[in-house]
Amino acid sequence: PVRTRFAPSPTGYLHLGGARTALYSWAYARHFGGTFVLRIEDTDLERSTPEAVQAIIEGMAWLGLNHDEGPFYQMQRMDRYREVVGQMLAAGTAYHCYSSPEEVQAMRDKATAAGEKPRYDGTWRPEQGKILPAIPEGRKPVVRFKNPLDGEVTWNDFVKGTITIGNKELDDLVIARPDGTPTYNFCVAIDDLDMEITHVLRGDDHVNNTPRQINILRAIGAALPQYGHLPMILGSDGAKMSKRKDAVNVMQYPAEGYLPEAILNYLARLGWSHGDEEVFSMEQLCAWFDGTHLSNSAAQFNIEKLNWLNNHYIKQADNARLAELAQPRMLANGAVLEGAPALPVVLGLLKERTNTVNELADAAMLFYREPQPEAALLAQHVTDAVKPALAEFAERCKTVEWNKAALAAMIKEVLAAHGLKMPQIAMPLRLLVTGQLQTPAIDAVLEIFGRDTVVARMSKFL
Ligand code: GLU
Repeated sequence: PVRTRFAPSPTGYLHLGGARTALYSWAYARHFGGTFVLRIEDTDLERSTPEAVQAIIEGMAWLGLNHDEGPFYQMQRMDRYREVVGQMLAAGTAYHCYSSPEEVQAMRDKATAAGEKPRYDGTWRPEQGKILPAIPEGRKPVVRFKNPLDGEVTWNDFVKGTITIGNKELDDLVIARPDGTPTYNFCVAIDDLDMEITHVLRGDDHVNNTPRQINILRAIGAALPQYGHLPMILGSDGAKMSKRKDAVNVMQYPAEGYLPEAILNYLARLGWSHGDEEVFSMEQLCAWFDGTHLSNSAAQFNIEKLNWLNNHYIKQADNARLAELAQPRMLANGAVLEGAPALPVVLGLLKERTNTVNELADAAMLFYREPQPEAALLAQHVTDAVKPALAEFAERCKTVEWNKAALAAMIKEVLAAHGLKMPQIAMPLRLLVTGQLQTPAIDAVLEIFGRDTVVARMSKFL
């Protein structure tokens, strides 16, 4: 059975790149009817915070990337890591190293000076017939992994193809510190083993960790997961993504009025493709996502494309849902919803042309505040030449059948009777009824406001 995991380090918010990794791992598990595990890699005590854990869980929940198991916390697994360290010491696949940090630094400097890769020189590495130095008094050892000296580590990366690293490139990795705490690569390897992970999808900043993790797993006789390393997402300017330029925190997107389905669809296409498909649901993604067609080149973030998708999903969205999303922002901006047109109806009228829910909320404000047309605009548009027509319009509003078509027909008759053109009445009507000149089609706006409001506002100004 397929088991994938998302293993964020809780040091900040859920990053867009992290969300894409999570999405792919989730979709892969779903495609094969497998299990998606959430693991929190919180062993970096200085940088990990409970707030960051919350932010990650909140971001995943907003996207709907539900995990089947976890969250597991590495800090709660310390006993298990110690247990494996003990087993490896007993089996001779790891050893105590008493070199001081200064000594290790000197070894590294020496290697560098000789034009080699800086490395630990194996002083404490036990070998058959080798006599180890005397243990320095009072010094606590680290535990090092006994990395194979020869041969190579090869894996078939399902994003990058075959990758081979010579064991000569790899140091005897420290797996436990002097105080006994395990180190990063060791924890990841043991977790992937214990959580029976079959497929590891992660950022390609981890490519160099993979041979170390593979060697540890091999040393304890574990089956290896398959690995896929995803190239990073570049910012809109083609350089590394950063929060100065683009919204990298996933939770900025709901705040700016993006729908999760737009973000998911956008992230799915950012590094993976299925023919020419651009717009698809997560059900479709899960049906298609079998680990092939993952791109090996970095994708560039493009806000226009995301906006286009968000507009698409806003148009598809249920108006009551949009109303719920738009309402807090509108209330904060002073909207009065009581006694005003129903918000879902208004949003349904406006949503064709908006990229975000926030834009939609702002556009809808015209229905929810008292119109305060500027005097200069009134003078310009509500002229003596059009006043008689406006008066007739106001009068006929009292009895006309109240729907868009009837209103449009009535306005045409009034225009004809007074020898006016459409803008000559549409503009003053917009001003008097909404306070502004830019609105959707006037007949639709009038219909939504309702007879009482329109009649009241007309009579107030005329
Ligand atoms: N905790 C690592 C990160 O946040 C991911 C490790 C992994 O996926 O193996 O970058």
